[in-house]
Amino acid sequence: MDYYCSKCNEDIEKKVYDYSKKEFGEVLCRNCQKNSEPKKEVGLNSQESKYREGMIKGRIAETLIEELFLSLGYDVFRYGMENTVPGIMKLLKDVKGDVATNIRRMPDFVVKKNDEVFFVEVKFRASETLTKKDLPKDYPFMNAYFILVSKKHIKCITYQELMDGKEITSTTQNYLGKRKEFDLEKETVIDFCNFAVKFFESV
Ligand SMILES: [Zn+2]
Repeated sequence: MDYYCSKCNEDIEKKVYDYSKKEFGEVLCRNCQKNSEPKKEVGLNSQESKYREGMIKGRIAETLIEELFLSLGYDVFRYGMENTVPGIMKLLKDVKGDVATNIRRMPDFVVKKNDEVFFVEVKFRASETLTKKDLPKDYPFMNAYFILVSKKHIKCITYQELMDGKEITSTTQNYLGKRKEFDLEKETVIDFCNFAVKFFESV
């Protein structure tokens, strides 16, 4: 097979053809390459793609838990500053100090039923594991509940329990449906577990 430049029709070698296809997205001789812009990278690179995928999983988990509490008659407030002031996370990125740190760590939700109010932090973990080590140093919300969504289960642990060395793993029994404080209907929680199975099937 002959190779030739798509601009000036000059014959080229195979290695020039391969190089040009890869770098310029079209077939050009060496001379014409000099006057062309190399092909731009399009789409996400693998690191960005992984990061975005993680964000999406987290958001799905948050929405799942939000809808769960709403369906059981709770008021749910998206408490994180990112929801109150869009873009503030970006602004806080280069800010040091306690206020910025604490704002950044605000739990995802406040859920309220009757006179009871809870801070809720939602996490998605394919590994179904949450331990004291996962807490940021000096975590300021000592009355927070951590709800862990995995592919199959929804489990819950408090800040205090984590500090006491308790943890969530794939074999622990600390299911959200068992938390007395929330008084959740088991059947509804199971319905939402089935949603989780559906959404996170392939992750
Ligand atoms: Zn050419």
